[in-house]
Amino acid sequence: MGAVPFTKTSREYLSKLTVDIFLFLVYTNIKDIEILNKLNNSQSLYIAERVVNMLKNIIQRTPVEIIERSIEFTDKDGCGFSFDCDENGTPKFSCDAAKQNYEYAMAHPEFFTGQFNKVVIHKRKYIEPAHGICRCGEDVTLYDEYQGACACPKCGKWYNMYGQELIDPEYWED
Ligand SMILES: [Zn+2]
Repeated sequence: MGAVPFTKTSREYLSKLTVDIFLFLVYTNIKDIEILNKLNNSQSLYIAERVVNMLKNIIQRTPVEIIERSIEFTDKDGCGFSFDCDENGTPKFSCDAAKQNYEYAMAHPEFFTGQFNKVVIHKRKYIEPAHGICRCGEDVTLYDEYQGACACPKCGKWYNMYGQELIDPEYWED
């Protein structure tokens, strides 16, 4: 990461200090933003690069394509039945009623002049969010749970969208 912008206008940034910078400030008893401003760029860069805790093994957000198949029966108006199926075209029934509808449709090709027992492939894409391993071992998904940050569901540590550990939101300034 780049240098931490310790400037007079960085109160917004300081409200989301990463936890180790926060601890550094507590250690060195630097509480006044005017003192922070006296840190030069290399000092702040040093702090940022040396001590920021991050999620381990971060996997960046990835586009994923999902392929779903269904068997479709439609009449001349496009009305009919659709059943989820596997890649071999074998239907998967969620309930007995679905199975009965399928058997009914298969027995009545004369009704389904639009499509009869046709395997249709549906593709959709979504973005799998970035995720990484917390110090507690939990695989944490990075999403905007609260003000651009999220908490580990197991241990409750907070992370920003880059996977950098943050101090608890109760210490954030508005
Ligand atoms: Zn955790």
